[in-house]
Amino acid sequence: MSFTVAIDGPAAAGKGTISRAVAARFGFAHLDTGLLYRAVGAKVAAGAAPEAAALALVPADLEGPGLRTLEAGQAASRVATIPEVRAALVEFQRRFARQPGGAVLDGRDIGTVICPEAEVKLYVTASAEVRAHRRWLEVGGEPAQVLAEVRERDARDMGRADAPLRPADDAVILDTSDLSIDAAVAQAVALIEARRKSG
Ligand code: C5P
Repeated sequence: MSFTVAIDGPAAAGKGTISRAVAARFGFAHLDTGLLYRAVGAKVAAGAAPEAAALALVPADLEGPGLRTLEAGQAASRVATIPEVRAALVEFQRRFARQPGGAVLDGRDIGTVICPEAEVKLYVTASAEVRAHRRWLEVGGEPAQVLAEVRERDARDMGRADAPLRPADDAVILDTSDLSIDAAVAQAVALIEARRKSG
């Protein structure tokens, strides 16, 4: 039986940490869908055409070096505005979501576009300042520059015409600005447990 948990939200809100913890807790498979766009962005930076790069994506591409950098995030958010790229990645994500045993997908449009029927939808967010600080702890650099990049990526992700970042109408909002990782994970786990019992 499948059970899908959709976790959306802006960069560095805590989606990845919560998704990994929830997947481990319930034995669900986990897909970080940002990596799909990061891998396409890397191929395009190396000269590939965007749609062709998305259609040719294979799982090994998600392990590519350098996909976690700020530059890779910016390249990802640029190719993510291209409708043909998004369309090419839909089927893979939906198949992953419906695998037996349960799945967690984190991204920007999982609850709104990829899996509108997901059993659990979470929208994980935090203030831009808190998210920039977390990113800065990971990658270093100039704090003001990191904040500017977070804001730039938010604007592009929320402002694009195709699958913009927004909470699904039935998503539960989890603001992690003032929450520890453990507290945020505990809230997500409690929500999933409640849905599993009621479903
Ligand atoms: O989550 P992550 O920071 O790795 O995502 C990189 C970029 O990929 C995002 O800024 C966004 O533009 C794009 N993305 C998307 N839809 C998803 C996941 C990521 O458009 N489901």
